[in-house]
Formats: sequence, C-alpha cells, structure tokens
Amino acid sequence: MAGMNLILPAAPPLPPVVHHPAYCAELPEEHRFPMNKFRRVAELALAEGLVPGGKFLKPRAAPAEWVALAHDPAYVEQVFSTNVPPAIAREIGFPMTQSIALRGRCATGGSVLTGYLALEHGLACNTAGGSHHARKAHGAGFCVFNDVAVAIRVMQADGVIRRALVVDLDVHQGDGTADIFAGDPSVFTFSMHAQKNYPVRKVPSDLDLGLEDGLMDAPYLDLLAEHLPQVIDRAEPDIVFYNAGVDPFAGDKLGRLALSHEGLRLRDEHVIRTVRRLGLPLAGVLGGGYSTDIDELAGRHLTLLRAAATVARETPVLSA
Ligand SMILES: [Zn+2]
Repeated sequence: MAGMNLILPAAPPLPPVVHHPAYCAELPEEHRFPMNKFRRVAELALAEGLVPGGKFLKPRAAPAEWVALAHDPAYVEQVFSTNVPPAIAREIGFPMTQSIALRGRCATGGSVLTGYLALEHGLACNTAGGSHHARKAHGAGFCVFNDVAVAIRVMQADGVIRRALVVDLDVHQGDGTADIFAGDPSVFTFSMHAQKNYPVRKVPSDLDLGLEDGLMDAPYLDLLAEHLPQVIDRAEPDIVFYNAGVDPFAGDKLGRLALSHEGLRLRDEHVIRTVRRLGLPLAGVLGGGYSTDIDELAGRHLTLLRAAATVARETPVLSA
C-alpha cells in the first residue's frame, strides 16, 4: 500500500544434503560401531535447519556396475550376494548381511549423488560416506565400499570430470583410497592423520601428513593451511571430495589427536572456504567418528553441514 516495492535480498540457498534411511544398518546391539549416529545426524540436521526445504536428497543404491569401477568385481559380487569370505568379513568388522550390503550401496550412491550435486551447486554434503579403508581388492576397517573412489570413477566414466582431489582429514590414514588411485595421475590423494593410528601398514597417498599423538588445534590448522593450497595446485582438480571425519577430536574413542569442537569447525570452514574461493566444487562426506554418546557424536558430525552452510553464505551456492 505504501507504493514501494521492498526488495529484500533472497536468503542464500543452503547446500543440498544427501541422506538415505539405509545409512543406519542393522547391527547386533553390542557391536562397537556407532551405527545409530547416521539416524541422529539426519534428525539433528533437520532440527537445526541445515537441510534445504527440510528435504534430504535420497540416493539410489549403487549398482554393481558402478562399484566395480573401483573394486574387484569378484569382491563386489561377494558383498551383493552376502557371500563375503569370513577372513574379509573379519577385516571389515561387520557381519556381512543384506542390511550392511545395502548400507554400503546406498552410502556409495549417496557420494555419487553428492558429487553430481557439487558440480551443479558448487557445494553438497553426504550424511554418510568416507569409507576410505576399502581398497581395490576388498573392504576393511568398517568400510565395505570406497564410496568416494566409486564416485570419482563414475563421474570420470560419465565424462563430467577428468581430475579429482581427495582431501582426507579423518584421523585414520586413507589407505584404501591411496590403493585404488595408486599410479593414477588424474586423482590426487591427500591424507592428514595420526601416524600411530590404524592402519598399521599405510598405503602411500600422493601426500601424507602423519601427525604426532596429541596434536592440538593451532599446529594442526597451521599444517593444513600450509599444505592445502599446494595440494590443490598440484591436483588441478575438477572436483574436491572432502572426508570430514571428526575422529581427530580430543574426546574421540579411536582418535589420537586432540582437536577441540572449535578446531573441527575452523578446519571444515577452512577447507570448504579455500576450495570454494577458487571456484571449485566440493563434495563433503561424513567420515569417521567414535563415541558411545550418540548425541555428542552426531552433533560433532554436524560440523561439516554447519561449515558448508556458513561458507555458502559467503560464496553463494549456484542455483544451476
Ligand atoms: Zn577414522
């Protein structure tokens, strides 16, 4: 009625978030893997308004043909048909059931979808993924399929990317990813991890920073800031996959580093901001995090989605 049009700046869109209910697989009650965190991360992300329109994007379960781009077809077949040899199942650490197989396929489909959404919007996150111990021959260390490696291979096969960079800041070394991309100059693997942590035998990444036990926020963030620009320069990536494992946290059950919640926030914002300021797409995956306190752990994992939202406000995500 006042005869003037108020033009309000539109709220910058939140980055898309990928989730599937099957991320939370069935495990025996007493199992030491904190499976319920995947349900809780989704609930907390919705409650905190970190999901655009309150709607997750739901991936399809990866077909064998995708998974076999990064893994031996015989192993893929074993998982799909729940016929994994006991020795490999033990190395993975999960009972190799239908539920676990579906979870691996959905998390993998989720990272593929996240990669595509990152290309379209600049930034996207998966509420699972980062199964970086799964190598070409088979899974290991709670990792069935290397979702990030499959996503890169699918996107390369589709011809939408040529080169990729994996920034892996989970506290454990990204041995599976390094194994899959060994000798492949089109994919640069960067892992920053606790040197004395699992896996005992590490597979060399293109750049490994093995850190001393107990390393705290300031030196950790300094090392990251020092190396990340060079890593991006060397990788010349068309996309960056970021494993934002929260197990470098001081209170993590399986970590050996001593980052604070604030340190994790600064870490995630730094990685996402650095990549986005160069105009490169970033696909964030959840990675590891271990605690018997599922609320604390899920809250810790939200750091990635919060950081993505924060950086999206600075460098708006593209609405295709
Ligand atoms: Zn880890």
